[in-house]
Amino acid sequence: MKEVQHIIGGKPVAGISGRYADVFNPATGEAEKKVPLANVAELNAAVENAKAAQPAWAATNPQKRARVLMEFVRLLHRDMDKLAEALSREHGKTIPDAKGDVIRGLEVAEFCIGAPHLLKGEYNEGAGPGIDMYSMRQPLGVVAGITPFNFPAMIPMWKFCPAIAAGNAFILKPSERDPTVPNMLAELMLEAGLPDGILNVVHGDKEVVDAILDSPDVMAVGFVGSTPIAQYIYERAAATGKRVQCFGGAKNHMIIMPDADMDQTADALIGAGYGAAGERCMAVSVAVPVGDETAERLIAKLRPRVEALKVGPYTEGDDVDFGPLVTKEAKTRVLGLIDSGIDAGAELVVDGRSMSLQGYENGNFVGPCLFDKVTTDMEIYKQEIFGPVLSVARVTTYEDSVRMVMENDYGNGVAIFTRDGDAARDFSNRINVGMVGINVPIPVPLAYHTFGGWKRSGFGDLNQHGPDAFRFYTRTKTVTSRWPSGIKEGAEFSIPTMN
Ligand code: NAD
Repeated sequence: MKEVQHIIGGKPVAGISGRYADVFNPATGEAEKKVPLANVAELNAAVENAKAAQPAWAATNPQKRARVLMEFVRLLHRDMDKLAEALSREHGKTIPDAKGDVIRGLEVAEFCIGAPHLLKGEYNEGAGPGIDMYSMRQPLGVVAGITPFNFPAMIPMWKFCPAIAAGNAFILKPSERDPTVPNMLAELMLEAGLPDGILNVVHGDKEVVDAILDSPDVMAVGFVGSTPIAQYIYERAAATGKRVQCFGGAKNHMIIMPDADMDQTADALIGAGYGAAGERCMAVSVAVPVGDETAERLIAKLRPRVEALKVGPYTEGDDVDFGPLVTKEAKTRVLGLIDSGIDAGAELVVDGRSMSLQGYENGNFVGPCLFDKVTTDMEIYKQEIFGPVLSVARVTTYEDSVRMVMENDYGNGVAIFTRDGDAARDFSNRINVGMVGINVPIPVPLAYHTFGGWKRSGFGDLNQHGPDAFRFYTRTKTVTSRWPSGIKEGAEFSIPTMN
């Protein structure tokens, strides 16, 4: 079976720990590759390489660093089809969606081409008599990113592009479920002119993650994944004094006001609820119609659209709406949650549980499911399902819908569909969620804004990409300087003040 390699010091390196994980094709259920799971010694080798390479990279003119990213963007376009195919094969998402995964990362690479501007410091001439004061942003040194399976191109790029543009060396620990694309990205960065050792990919599981968290040479950790692991990583890394930002799971609601355009709302919900089989941290998993009449109209529009969804492997063509779940375990978990929803009294309006595809009987496919009359005490409401399951949770008033979202543990994304500007404005002002859509179902900010959730969807300071990324991956040094006009004034004995 083909073996994935680590990329350390600019070269592919075979794993030496003796531990491996299988990498599956989720459509067929077959293990196609194995990925090595690194141990502490392998992590340390990568960190040593990164540490040795970083000072010269930090000393490289930021415009020259940015040009590596400029070339990287060109290479991503050149290899788009290859990247998308490799991504779909290990993740299961459709080819158009896989290209979206690459492009949303590429856009952050484009943003980082502006690093020289973003890294400019501040300067005050004459902060005191003959005194100038200036602040500069300096890289942290060696930093690390630990990323999830569901965006194997986008999220690694969200992490390493700004970190590297800012002059750091980077250790990427991607998900062990779909490790091929992260390697391809690192190879493209090397081809684009990145010096060896500045971007290392070390594959593995908890063992190597813990080694990253405990390494005294890793100055910052950025994590994206599930909430329990986000919190664990935040606490363990912060305890050693590292800079940490951890983005976790989600339960995203869409409020549907009685005046919403119901066709537009239903179309938006279909894409946001079922795209990528619901395996998106910004998927809408709860639709909240305000009033029973709104709910009836919504269900009437949703049901035929959900029943018409085409589920299949990415190889079946671009008209497939979504593919399989990532693993057998994910499929079992999602089916278990659907059963728990029925047991708890929710109404399963569309039942995709028994879906099977000829020739792909061992694939991890789950058909689209639509629940009505879901209440906040049910497990299908409380847990992030991460599958093609949309819940409709009815409320009586607008205030009830606001309260439902406010009281939910997660705070990644939320949307409101309405024609009422006053309601939309009130909602976006009051709601305790990091990213808000007004008649936009998945409000993922573009590269030049920042991405991050509130409550149990995010731990630590600052958001991903946008200007925050450059704040996260740099530290500020402030210099106060005076060039004496000569020795004519002699020594000063009292503390200088502005008076
Ligand atoms: P996960 O938490 O299982 O894994 C994420 C990373 O952590 C992987 O690299 C994995 O190897 C590592 N990991 C797993 N268990 C660990 C442990 N016990 N100790 C140390 N490291 C461990 O998440 P996943 O299943 O890959 O991704 C899906 C989750 O990610 C969902 O909850 C989704 O909402 C979330 N997500 C959040 C965002 C966001 O920006 N908020 C974006 C994408 C995905």
